[in-house]
Amino acid sequence: MLYWNVVVATNTSFKNLFTGFSETVSQIPDFRTLEKKIKYTVHEIYSSAFAMMYFQDPSLNHFQKRMKEATNQSNLGTMFKVENIPQQKRMRTFIDRIEPKYLYPAFPDIVRRLDKAKLLDQFQFKGRFLCPMDGTQFFHTKHEGTGCKHCLTKKHRNGTVSYSHSVVVPMIVHPEQKQVLPLISEEIRNEDGKKKQDCEINASKRLIPKLKENYPGYRLVILGDGLYAKQTLIDLITENEYDFMLTVSPDYNVGFLEEVERRRGAGRVQNIEINKKGKEYHYEWASSIAFKKTGETIDANYIGLTITDSKTGAITYKNTWVTNLELAEEDIIDLVAAARSRWKVENEGFNILKNHDYELEHNYGHGAENLAFNFFQLTLLAHLYHQAHELGDKQYQKLREIKETKKNFWDSIRAAIRNILFFEWEDLLKYLLNPPEVTYDPVSGTLVANSS
Ligand SMILES: [Zn+2]
Repeated sequence: MLYWNVVVATNTSFKNLFTGFSETVSQIPDFRTLEKKIKYTVHEIYSSAFAMMYFQDPSLNHFQKRMKEATNQSNLGTMFKVENIPQQKRMRTFIDRIEPKYLYPAFPDIVRRLDKAKLLDQFQFKGRFLCPMDGTQFFHTKHEGTGCKHCLTKKHRNGTVSYSHSVVVPMIVHPEQKQVLPLISEEIRNEDGKKKQDCEINASKRLIPKLKENYPGYRLVILGDGLYAKQTLIDLITENEYDFMLTVSPDYNVGFLEEVERRRGAGRVQNIEINKKGKEYHYEWASSIAFKKTGETIDANYIGLTITDSKTGAITYKNTWVTNLELAEEDIIDLVAAARSRWKVENEGFNILKNHDYELEHNYGHGAENLAFNFFQLTLLAHLYHQAHELGDKQYQKLREIKETKKNFWDSIRAAIRNILFFEWEDLLKYLLNPPEVTYDPVSGTLVANSS
């Protein structure tokens, strides 16, 4: 009897979260019908790749394979249900061929589980969720002739060509929440036969209906930088019954900001001023302004914030937004905080993925078709799991606090799973929170408990 296996499964326990992953992966078609002997199942291939991202350890499979050879069991088997650990090459070849869309359902599955566990309540903003959208590059190479089918290419002056992969990711954020929840992602990718390179705006246009499809019933406020403040995109956002708060700039939104200026001159722009820690916060707003000067357009609302240094009078921050959300004086400060939370995608999302733990730009493999983006999706999914743990896993939170840095936290986890077999993710955390006092006995070659 596995008497130690007493983990109480909650909505957000690893076991439950992983059920969603297994269900998603079970829908991936297996194209290997002509292969005589299929050594690894689709689940084994995808789970071992996901585990690599989850533990942020490119050598994970190597060490788990060694454990399996020595003891006939491994942590990949117990936690990730991988009996036969695939060879890296086979894993990459298979994942490269799979359409990225098959991984989409794994994301809403986690978000819905968080919602059921009431862990999304703290992200609510006036009955909605703030959802910044932003693009980032996750792969880049200058090696001649290494491009895959979907690479974005750039010709340089010296005649060389560089290849890259970029993506647009919408995430749920909240001004007061540290965590960011990636919802799904859309690759900025070139397709066969198309002469023009794909771009962030086109990818966003494909993404918005996909968001609706994967998150029915979720009311989102799309936040975006100046790139997004365009009539066609606003139309798409409102057609999908979403709201928006987008940065507007004098370079691209001339008509809108001219009208704001005109109203300001006529004293028809409302404002409030707040002094905080030696800084003046000047908020202003106006409603029902034509978004475009000419052509078919909508009436939208304007919000602005200028921060000046009280002593010197120097402007330290200035931004302006267009929104369809109703503006009431008592909401202005919250609305501006919401609009400004867009930076979290960069700071708490992309930076963490790129610089700190996941080594997003570290090449796990490029492939010929979909490998780069599928690996990106698995990395993003691992990040979402970790965010879910941060929100709902008490042992995870406690260990994270003890280990102080994320690096220490993951180093201790990686070290433990190399040599010790755990039946559950929660057992691993429990062990690290309270490691048993043991001594290595050279005679028997085993660990024995220290006597008090
Ligand atoms: Zn490529």
